[in-house]
Amino acid sequence: MARSILVIGAGVAGLAAAWSARRRGARVTVISAGVGETALAGGAVDDVPWEQVERAGRLLGSDLPAGDLAPAARQFAAELGLWDVPHAAAARIATVAGRIRPARGRDRALLDLGPLRRTRVLVPRVPRAAWDADALAEAFTDEPFARARGLRFLPVDAPFLRFDDERGIADGDLAARHDDPARLSWLLERLHQALEGAGGAGAILLGPWLGARAPRAEALSARLGVPVGEALIGAGSPAGLRFEAARDALLAAIEVTQRHGRVRAVAAGDGRGAAGGPGDGVLVHVDGEDVPLAADAVILAIGGLAGGGVAYAPPERGAGPDLPARGAAPFALSIAAPVTLGDARGAFGVVSSMQGPELDLVAWPRGDRLGALEAVGVRCEGVRAAPGILVAGATIAGRARTVLDAVTTGLRAGAEA
Ligand SMILES: Cc1cc2nc3c(=O)[nH]c(=O)nc-3n(C[C@H](O)[C@H](O)[C@H](O)COP(=O)(O)OP(=O)(O)OC[C@H]3O[C@@H](n4cnc5c(N)ncnc54)[C@H](O)[C@@H]3O)c2cc1C
Repeated sequence: MARSILVIGAGVAGLAAAWSARRRGARVTVISAGVGETALAGGAVDDVPWEQVERAGRLLGSDLPAGDLAPAARQFAAELGLWDVPHAAAARIATVAGRIRPARGRDRALLDLGPLRRTRVLVPRVPRAAWDADALAEAFTDEPFARARGLRFLPVDAPFLRFDDERGIADGDLAARHDDPARLSWLLERLHQALEGAGGAGAILLGPWLGARAPRAEALSARLGVPVGEALIGAGSPAGLRFEAARDALLAAIEVTQRHGRVRAVAAGDGRGAAGGPGDGVLVHVDGEDVPLAADAVILAIGGLAGGGVAYAPPERGAGPDLPARGAAPFALSIAAPVTLGDARGAFGVVSSMQGPELDLVAWPRGDRLGALEAVGVRCEGVRAAPGILVAGATIAGRARTVLDAVTTGLRAGAEA
């Protein structure tokens, strides 16, 4: 009988784990409580944090060569159908903070400035709160990458919004309007006019508004004859909606059962099928359900500090009227499980006071030391944390918090489960 694998968490790590376990013939169920980091992030697909890539490039005086993806990761990305991960060079994406930064890959709606040379990029003026085309165009033109490649960004008037409410609706709602082919054709006409009015350009850069169910930028670019794409925003981009749509389609295509539920605890089973499941190497207790789910193995892909898998739990939280009973690591896994939470690189080895760590000092990376967001998580041997319990993605202590790192550990956990 096929092994039964329960994946907890439906971010990119849980998805990669489910895909990988399913490829090996397992029966796979994914249970998730809702959104995590993957659904909050903006569509940049990094392997290592981009600041490190840029710093190394500055030291070397040239761009770092981009290593190709492992074959399984490339196959997974191809089946997901959401990202472009170039084979040789990193993509270059524009952020709404006015930077142009490298990314190993990108959601296909984001504009890749990498292939452009000696040309103008139009930045339409769109009357929305977080989009100041004039300031952005000036900042991008001043970026070292743009200067080295001869790129100039030009703010232009183009009626991108069709209805008054679109000045204030959420990015995701505006993006969803471009899932409608008729609306996309309307936009195409306006972009044609903008191009003509400007006397031509090499690309058009917009905000995060080009599709919620799928990236619409490629279809638009093909019809316009000029690349059109989104800038990257910090959090809450429609890229998260596009990930969820692509994820659900992939899970359905590979016949993985998906269900909603918040897991409260994971425990070792008695191995005799007592829970009535097909085998119960591990039992999973879900909020509001009396009977635990049973599986041969469980993959914890519940995210880290940013995604909710790890919670900030300083010692004073359990304190009485005076002081906490003892100093303790100020973090806890958000579900009960027989695994050890740790801080792989020692950022919290010493708790500085009974009131917990000085978060303003330890939350962010400093020099070679990881910040709390990366450092804290489940301690593992590779991806194994306890018998029958594997861990993937941002739940693992001490790894880079990037999309491709979550893919790597997810694929591995799925293969080893
Ligand atoms: C704002 C932001 C910007 C980012 N920018 C970038 C970037 O530019 N480039 C890059 O490469 N990476 C970026 N990242 C990091 C990257 O998105 C994450 O490292 C990666 O998505 C982690 O994926 P994951 O599957 O491990 O966790 P998550 O995506 O957090 O998934 C966790 C899943 O577990 C579920 N879950 C949690 N607890 C329970 C429970 N008790 N029961 C059931 N389900 C549960 C959640 O609902 C969710 O489905 C960013 C992250 C954030 C938050």
